Amino acid sequence: MTSRIVEPQREVDVFGDYDVVVAGGGPAGIAAALSAGRAGRKTILIERYGFLGGAGTAAGLSTFCGLHSNVYGTHTRTTQGVVNDILQRLQEMDALNKPHLSVQSRIQAQAYDISAYKIAAEELLLEAGVEILYHAFAAGLTKSSDAAIEALLIETKEGRFAVTGRIFIDGSGDGDLAAWAGAPYEIGDENGVTLYPSTMYRINGVDPVAAGRAWETIPQLMDTEEQRTGVKFPRKQPIVRPQKNPIEWRSNLTQISNPDGSPVSGIDARQLSYGEVQGRRQSWDTFSFIKRVTPGFENAYIVEIAPQIGIRETRRVLGDYQLSDADILGCKDFEDSIGVNGWPIEAHIQGAVKFVFAPEGSRGYNQIPYRIIVPQKIDNLFVVGRCASMTHDGQSSARVTGPCFSMGQAAGIAADIALGDGVTPRKINIRKLQDRLKADGVFLGDARVDSLAS
Ligand SMILES: Cc1cc2nc3c(=O)[nH]c(=O)nc-3n(C[C@H](O)[C@H](O)[C@H](O)COP(=O)(O)OP(=O)(O)OC[C@H]3O[C@@H](n4cnc5c(N)ncnc54)[C@H](O)[C@@H]3O)c2cc1C
Repeated sequence: MTSRIVEPQREVDVFGDYDVVVAGGGPAGIAAALSAGRAGRKTILIERYGFLGGAGTAAGLSTFCGLHSNVYGTHTRTTQGVVNDILQRLQEMDALNKPHLSVQSRIQAQAYDISAYKIAAEELLLEAGVEILYHAFAAGLTKSSDAAIEALLIETKEGRFAVTGRIFIDGSGDGDLAAWAGAPYEIGDENGVTLYPSTMYRINGVDPVAAGRAWETIPQLMDTEEQRTGVKFPRKQPIVRPQKNPIEWRSNLTQISNPDGSPVSGIDARQLSYGEVQGRRQSWDTFSFIKRVTPGFENAYIVEIAPQIGIRETRRVLGDYQLSDADILGCKDFEDSIGVNGWPIEAHIQGAVKFVFAPEGSRGYNQIPYRIIVPQKIDNLFVVGRCASMTHDGQSSARVTGPCFSMGQAAGIAADIALGDGVTPRKINIRKLQDRLKADGVFLGDARVDSLAS
């Protein structure tokens, strides 16, 4: 953009004053608000859409990854804590698959019903006394000093408001608050190239008996078609798998790039719009192929193309430590552990997905250090979820749902401790945080796994 105009200064009504202001209702924001609310803190969660779940609902994922680790060859649910309540709620709603083997049959994932997840998450938050403000887009902030946020500015159908708070938690996935506040961040690899986004869709009307294990044959059918006709599918390693009701399958096989081949950016207004159009076109084209060649899909149809393009990586906000690929592959321990991550590196590179696992027979998870959710320079802010302090390759693993729940839960409790003890998040007593997390059932990676809930 070349030209600029001056926006007139204006006064803004204060919507409310809170102990904890959470922006973003993805897994990280849900867990953060739930923990802060349960701790008795006056908490608001601000979400731009009319439902929770983040990419898990808005981008149509319908599968929790990173809840499980392959611990010395035994698949174990190592992400514990508030996620237990979410899973239990989904179970009660008959909306949760049993964990299934994913990615080369080396790690478990768990599918859920998207509508039920929205309801389960919001009911848990409301029961914890959290105020949920939907259809509210965080658009900027004011500061009370160089290092402190005073208020989040939100746009609603009623107009612009300020939401004042004592601690802010950035669960936007994009590090929006951190960037506006002036915290340092990185984007992409050493050349600034991020992971590629995908648009997901769900297929209904599948004949499960005729389809059989079509999740194994569809990738082969695509490869054969490419070799036979020269047609190019958006990427290798397509994932097309059944949901709880096997007439419905989820589809993760698109890859969204700009005309020059670079990944569409989740924080570029025009690229996002271009990407949505391209994502729907790829969805329709790939589905048409699957329907034409796959037994059991003759009467299938797309029941939903996800409401928004799935963004995997934008800003990664710098804390005092960056979780790296070496930490993940080396199953590294940290004294300030707030939970664990057992998901492999899942790099969505041009035309393909590259998976790298911790060595076979290893412990299978790394600890997540508290330092990655405490940004540099800003004293009353946490940054949780996929925009936390990780290297590009580290984020390729620890961006999935399990670690995001863990980061969020730690931030919610740490906010309570910081407010109670009158210190900044950087200065809280880590042992106190860890004791509170353990009391809430979180597995920090320093105990036996055989008694963990499955
Ligand atoms: C295509 C795709 C497939 C994936 N598949 C899986 C999978 O199968 N399993 C898995 O576990 N993970 C998967 N992931 C990773 C997934 O993105 C993360 O697990 C997770 O959703 C990140 O959580 P988060 O809370 O950090 O951010 P998000 O889930 O991105 O949530 C951010 C939330 O903040 C809201 N928000 C953003 N900006 C603002 C603003 N300015 N104002 C108000 N609200 C705002 C958004 O609407 C959203 O609700 C996939 C990702 C993609 C893109």
